[in-house]
Amino acid sequence: MRIVLVGPPGAGKGTQAQFIASHLAIPKISTGDIFRHNVTNGTPLGRQAKEYMNRGDLVPDEVTIAMVRDRLGEDDAQAGFLLDGFPRNVPQAETLKKLLTDWGTRLTVVLELVVDEDEVVRRLSGRRTCRRCERVWHILFDPPTRDGICDACGGELFQRDDDREETVRHRLEVYTKQTAPLVAYYADEGILIGIDATGPVEEITERALAALRPFAR
Ligand code: ADP
Ligand code: AMP
Repeated sequence: MRIVLVGPPGAGKGTQAQFIASHLAIPKISTGDIFRHNVTNGTPLGRQAKEYMNRGDLVPDEVTIAMVRDRLGEDDAQAGFLLDGFPRNVPQAETLKKLLTDWGTRLTVVLELVVDEDEVVRRLSGRRTCRRCERVWHILFDPPTRDGICDACGGELFQRDDDREETVRHRLEVYTKQTAPLVAYYADEGILIGIDATGPVEEITERALAALRPFAR
C-alpha cells in the first residue's frame, strides 16, 4: 500500500505512523525526521532546512521534493510506503502524483487524522522526542518511565525547538493556509478517508487499521 498521513502538527501522525507502518510491514517515511537527522548531522541539506524549520515555515519545495524522490526510489519503498509529513501543499501533492505516475503507480489512500486545535496545542506543548530512535513521548499523555529517557532505546529525550509556543502558533497557520487544502484535493481524487484521532493511542491505531483494511490487497 502507498499511504499518506495528513493532519495538523501534533495530530499524532508520527505516533500512529510507527504502529501502522510496522503492522503493514512498509517503511515509514517522515520528511520531518529526515530533515531533523540532517540538521543534527550538519549536512548541506540540514543547513538548507534549518532556518525554515526553526521559524515553523515549510522548507522550499525543490529541496523537499528532491529528498523525497531519492527516498522513494530506495529498494525498501518499492512495495509500499507510509508518508508522514509529505505532501505539505498542493504543488508537492501534484509532484508526488506525477512521480508515481511516471513509475507506473499511484497512491492507494490518504488517511486524515482529525483533531481540534486545542488538543493539538496540548499535545505539542508536552511532546518529547528521542534523539536516538525518534520515538515520540508526551510528558502527561504518554510519559516515559524515567524522566528524559526513552523507554524504547534508552536514548535522551529532547523538546523540539519548533514546539515553542510562538512557533507552534505559526505552524498551525502554515497548516491552515498551505496543508489543509490537501484534504479537499484528495477528497476530489476519491482517495481520502478521515478518522477521529482523539482518545487513547491504541484505539486510534485500531481505527486507522480498520479504515485502511478495505484498501489492502
Ligand atoms: P505529529 O507527528 O502529527 O506532529 P506526534 O505523533 O508527534 O504528532 O504527536 C504529538 C504529541 O502528542 C506527542 O507528544 C505524542 O506523544 C502525543 N500524542 C499522540 N497521540 C496522542 C493521543 N492519542 N492522545 C494524547 N496524546 C497523543
Ligand atoms: P514535522 O516533523 O512533520 O512536524 O516537520 C517539521 C518541520 O520540517 C516543518 O515545520 C517544516 O519546516 C519541515 N518539513 C517537514 N516536511 C516538510 C514538507 N513536506 N515540506 C516542507 N517542509 C517540511
